[in-house]
Amino acid sequence: MPLTVHQFPCLSDNYGFLARDAATGKTACIDTPDAAAILAALSQKGWTLDLILNTHWHPDHAGGNAEVAAATGAMIVGPAEVTRISALDREVRGGDEVMLGETRFQVIETGGHTLGHIAYFDAAEHIAFVGDTLFALGCGRLFEGTAEQMWTSLQRLAALPDDTAVYCAHEYTASNARFALSVDDDPTLKARTDQIFAQRQRGEPTVPTTIGLEKATNPFLRAPKLAQRVGAAGQPDHAAFGAVRSAKDNFKG
Ligand code: ZN
Ligand code: FE
Repeated sequence: MPLTVHQFPCLSDNYGFLARDAATGKTACIDTPDAAAILAALSQKGWTLDLILNTHWHPDHAGGNAEVAAATGAMIVGPAEVTRISALDREVRGGDEVMLGETRFQVIETGGHTLGHIAYFDAAEHIAFVGDTLFALGCGRLFEGTAEQMWTSLQRLAALPDDTAVYCAHEYTASNARFALSVDDDPTLKARTDQIFAQRQRGEPTVPTTIGLEKATNPFLRAPKLAQRVGAAGQPDHAAFGAVRSAKDNFKG
């Protein structure tokens, strides 16, 4: 049975997500960037919240946990690192499963942006909630992990089916596109960025993206092909990735 995703912008550039299992009406929110926005979305939809699924501990992802849980009675599920800022009812790690009614989420370990970052994947519906690991044409900054750890995490996501809908936690796509064009002159990328700039001009979201689209155009996933361009020719894939990440960190676009 399908999983219905309701996506809404909140804070300056975050997305909030409600995911509802169609068979049972059980509903989860993925992260809690903004408690008020999440509660408003729930009442607008007429949905009751059962689960909070955290991807990582950052305040724009877990900062609203207490308020949302207090207002809804939802159970908080997330990686152990979330206890830095919030209580957890259930701690999960890579390889675990979380049920939302009849929907089964696989927990995928995606450390790098933070050490304990995880993603949630519905293998029946090909839907992934990836937090701050993979963005449309981008990836999360390496605040805690190494380039090697993040590269491994990104490869786990790249291994999901091409038609997987990827729900990233931020709308960073236009700025990611400007950077991508600075390191990659692939025509598929150029066509995609034209479309992205037009979408953003019209105020439309560029999320969700898909694994297939990211594998074809995301400079971080394409890092081994761009190695020469970022001064990492002949180096291992994760080093080429690290060089692309550093180039983005220093990019003034
Ligand atoms: Zn974050
Ligand atoms: Fe974030």
